[in-house]
Amino acid sequence: MKAGIVGLPNVGKSTLFNCLSNAKAQSANFPFCTIEPNIGVVNVPDERLLKLEELVDPQRVLPATVEIVDIAGLVKGASKGEGLGNQFLGNIRETDAILHVLRCFDDENVVHVDGSVDPIRDKETIDMELQLKDLETVEKKLDKVKRAGKTGNKDALKEATVLGKVKSGLESGVSVRAIDLSKEERDEFVRPLQFITDKPVMYVCNVDEESAATGNAYVEKVKEAVTDENAEVIVLAVGTEADITELDTYEERQMFLEDLGLKEPGSAKLIRGAYKLLDLETYFTAGEKEVRAWTIPVGASAPQAAGVIHTDFEKGFIRAEVISYADYVNYGSEAKVKEAGKMRIEGKDYVVKDGDVVHFRFNV
Ligand code: GDP
Repeated sequence: MKAGIVGLPNVGKSTLFNCLSNAKAQSANFPFCTIEPNIGVVNVPDERLLKLEELVDPQRVLPATVEIVDIAGLVKGASKGEGLGNQFLGNIRETDAILHVLRCFDDENVVHVDGSVDPIRDKETIDMELQLKDLETVEKKLDKVKRAGKTGNKDALKEATVLGKVKSGLESGVSVRAIDLSKEERDEFVRPLQFITDKPVMYVCNVDEESAATGNAYVEKVKEAVTDENAEVIVLAVGTEADITELDTYEERQMFLEDLGLKEPGSAKLIRGAYKLLDLETYFTAGEKEVRAWTIPVGASAPQAAGVIHTDFEKGFIRAEVISYADYVNYGSEAKVKEAGKMRIEGKDYVVKDGDVVHFRFNV
């Protein structure tokens, strides 16, 4: 699963990307500095993993991960091919969720492509490019469907009606995710077209150091502007956080954060938010060799969850031995949980819960 970082040039995307992935993408004070899409694999911070490590004392600990893609070069006119625009829009289509970075800091030394700081205008510029691209998609499809409809095909007529709603929504500047459609209409006709503006979105307000804990007037405007979208708005001092990741020790980093009025890096909140946005959750395996967090889509069955470890585990699935995270911590070890009769044996229909500690039994 992938989350893509979008935003106008110079709003702090590659700084954010660097700070998340610690991969050193090129970052400089001019538009178009990141030409190739950069992909980073980011660990998902999870306190439960630390607790399990303490209890099990394994040789190694492996956290869950999310893939983050830095999508540069989105500018006004991108949907018409400006500034390599179409290529970048293609990159967005391949992601599962969008992290939309908005510049909410003043700094004369950092050029703004449109001459002034205005996150609402910036958001609309990006939204419009994405909507225009989706409009192209829906128009193409609608042409085909209408032709099929002419032969009296009832399904095609129904589809044409739904797509017509999508088209007029986009034309009046509404993103697909916010267009008023029934669940059936979405599932049947809208999802398969993979519209860019149908992907779940989270707004990242990039603020200056002083506003890291409190936000600022720009952030308030953003929150107001997105109230209808049911989207999370996160405040992050991207530049400052990038500086913090450069510090050597955990203690130094923690002190710096406390000075800013923060308990944990905003990036941790962001990564967890992205994980949630992607509708993912975590189960654990815990043994002396390794304690590990595994990522599954919310609602995955036990065999599907086993398949994340290895496809053979799914094919040969027999049963899952499951301990809830709360029981594991309460009793302090697998042996004690078993003694207390709290380990459950679950079959193929079991829906794995976030935090389950699982052993799979399978045939090879
Ligand atoms: P991108 O084009 O969106 O990827 O933007 P960059 O990450 O390359 O950042 C553009 C410029 O803004 C760089 O010079 C960064 O150092 C600077 N910058 C990024 N975040 C912040 C911030 O939070 N505050 C300030 N003052 N500058 C920042």
